[in-house]
Amino acid sequence: MFKKDIYDLLAEDVDRISFGFPKSYFRLDKKLLKKIFTPEHAKVFVQMKQGYVTAKQHAEQNNISEAEAKAHLDAMANKGLIFRRHRGENDEYHKHPFVMGFLEFQVNNPDKSWLLATSLYMITSKFGKRMSQTMPFYRTVPMHKEFLEGSKIMPYDDIEAILDKHTRFGVAPCMCRKMQRLDPKFKCIHPSETCIVTDDYATFYIETGLGREITKEEALAILREGENDGRVINVTNSQDGENICSCCACGCGILTLRTRYPGPANDLWSNHYSEVDLSKCVKCGLCVKKCPFNYIKMTKEGIEIDQKHCLGCGLCIAACHQKAIVLKHKPNLYTPPETYDGAIEIWQNITKKDYNKYK
Ligand code: SF4
Ligand code: SF4
Ligand code: SF4
Repeated sequence: MFKKDIYDLLAEDVDRISFGFPKSYFRLDKKLLKKIFTPEHAKVFVQMKQGYVTAKQHAEQNNISEAEAKAHLDAMANKGLIFRRHRGENDEYHKHPFVMGFLEFQVNNPDKSWLLATSLYMITSKFGKRMSQTMPFYRTVPMHKEFLEGSKIMPYDDIEAILDKHTRFGVAPCMCRKMQRLDPKFKCIHPSETCIVTDDYATFYIETGLGREITKEEALAILREGENDGRVINVTNSQDGENICSCCACGCGILTLRTRYPGPANDLWSNHYSEVDLSKCVKCGLCVKKCPFNYIKMTKEGIEIDQKHCLGCGLCIAACHQKAIVLKHKPNLYTPPETYDGAIEIWQNITKKDYNKYK
């Protein structure tokens, strides 16, 4: 038996994973957990070892029967409290972080008060600060590799090559827009079903009803439709690009940080920026309207791009009929960690090291 309140223990445990889950005013963090974890599920989460575990391993570690362990772990996976993947005969379970993890896995949770409290937590806690000061969570990749001039795109930045690495695909509703749409004043024109999940994540989303199965071609089409309504392709910051978002600057929790704060945000990364050939520019202004972050200004001579902040998404290039804009590689190319699991470990180590800064 635990001496401390199980939800305090759970909050502390979640705070040790990836970017963590810092305490907030009025202990909203604890209240959020209480609404989705039963005391029994909170106990199982705390007892789970970090990394992937089978029901057999969890049973041995906690002195319970394998059948009991499996029943708990499956019930929690089906409620989106932990992640599950299949390996041969076995199922493996993983306590994922708050983001990307059990927050996104609540996308179909009908309890609006939970979503509202989560939005409030995001604004009032130091979670955003932690996220923006460690290794970037997302990498923005261009809509088309052909936009890049003079050099070859890296395979981990080529959206088609990223999709080619995977064999199963799913699409789920966008959690950020869902939370924002609780506010009746929020006017977002972008579609809801835009979050692409692959392989083990696709299987998990499909099995638990979080999303539906699609083909690779459909996944690419959903991402590239963003050219029309101004969505940017963001992949979780690993070479395998397990999860791919199609984000708008009005709804996305991470992109809005870029438009809200003037300084360079570290929560997104890109290996590219755009450059204009003014001799081709006819000053039509289409690219100015298209950049979701207002990084393009019209001047007497033609357009001016804020290259320091540009994410190299390619939306302005798609809008320009004169082919006056191209993408360039940044001088020092960034190589992301190979896998998403590896990225979780890096975020966790950075947060642990600087923990006192973000308490
Ligand atoms: S990160 Fe972007 S696509 Fe993903 S849930 Fe947020 S807005 Fe939606
Ligand atoms: S869309 Fe092309 S032609 Fe029009 S202002 Fe932008 S760069 Fe110039
Ligand atoms: S200027 Fe804006 S639209 Fe163009 S690539 Fe950069 S961020 Fe994207």
